[in-house]
Amino acid sequence: MNSTENRREFIKKAITGGVALASLGCISLRGFNSMLSGVEASSATAFAAHTPGGNSLSSAPGSSASNASASQQTEARHYTRLERNRVRCDLCHHRCIIANGDRGFCRVRENDGGRLYSLVYGSVAGLQIDPIEKEPMHHMFPGHQNLCVFTASCNFRCRHCHNWHTSQRGPGEIRHQAFSPRDIVNLAKSRGTRSISHSINEPTIFYEYMYDISREAQREGLNTLFHTNGYMREEPLRELLRHMDGVTVDLKAFTDDFYRQVSSASLEPVLQTLKVIHEEKAHLEIVYLVIPTLNDDPEEIGTMASWIRDELGPEIPLHLNRFTPTYKLTTLPSTPVETLEKAAKTARDAGLKFVYVGNVPGHRLNSTFCPGCGERLIHRTHFYVESKQMENGRCKSCGYEIYGLWV
Ligand code: SF4
Repeated sequence: MNSTENRREFIKKAITGGVALASLGCISLRGFNSMLSGVEASSATAFAAHTPGGNSLSSAPGSSASNASASQQTEARHYTRLERNRVRCDLCHHRCIIANGDRGFCRVRENDGGRLYSLVYGSVAGLQIDPIEKEPMHHMFPGHQNLCVFTASCNFRCRHCHNWHTSQRGPGEIRHQAFSPRDIVNLAKSRGTRSISHSINEPTIFYEYMYDISREAQREGLNTLFHTNGYMREEPLRELLRHMDGVTVDLKAFTDDFYRQVSSASLEPVLQTLKVIHEEKAHLEIVYLVIPTLNDDPEEIGTMASWIRDELGPEIPLHLNRFTPTYKLTTLPSTPVETLEKAAKTARDAGLKFVYVGNVPGHRLNSTFCPGCGERLIHRTHFYVESKQMENGRCKSCGYEIYGLWV
């Protein structure tokens, strides 16, 4: 082992094996409040319309919803009743066994008398309207506005979570507002968004709500998508995909060690999820957050890219995103742009046709290039589309058909 490897191993062990660098008790609400002010800006009318005289978004953290019909406990769809009033949740690969009165690992599924309930159905922690590129989703109606819905909590415990203000808090610990699926669809239509996404926190944990919103949205001619950690089990996933046009999956690393030590999960179920999504023919894009020393090894990135090429196909877009220190990973530096560029070259050399560099606004690889002739097809700066050189999903110059949903 050379000195570079020694250093890498040392830093890795210090990060993944050490005591947590911060605890939930240290969370400041400042980040959450600034996110919420964005929510107010984008959806104040809708909140006012559904909560006359009710909780305002600037009320105290933990305040409850005023529209009980939208946020009442809803029975879970995927679980098994066991002896002594216990249940097994069959929604994600954690497969929690939950005693009467307890909640699962995600904190939002509760056993009440031998029945499992979702505690976040209709309980919205935030709404945002942004370009669809922000998901990120680069090959699905580029430049269109998307309404994003999220709740509290998550079924992962990633030390580098960028949305920890929401995802690492239980349903009673942050502000929420009640919205029925119909309310969400009406809001999307009144704001003129083309699609509704479920993102920011892990949407698997609000499965029933996401399912009902998506079914309703498709009936109204809206497009639907979700951004997931890929830990949903096969049966609920296939059921959900009947009402989903697109999925963005976080592939957090390509080693099981990373998943176990950094995210409290494992790799194999995520790979199975990617195969199922591909098989069901939903539009798929993959995000890989490149974190210095933890998952930036060129060999790991090459292996991951080859797996995508062989199992899913070379056309699947891969977003190599820049890490910035946050939550419990504050001792690592931001990913150098050079590392991202090398990773992009490795992925392209492995045969992937659409490789992006994300979280580096203005980088050339924010844009889409034609694999046929090299023409810049969609010129992007960060999340914003500057111009397009495509017609009916094809390159205007050479006619190459581009993977994605375009018209
Ligand atoms: S969704 Fe929640 S309760 Fe169900 S298995 Fe996953 S972590 Fe456990």
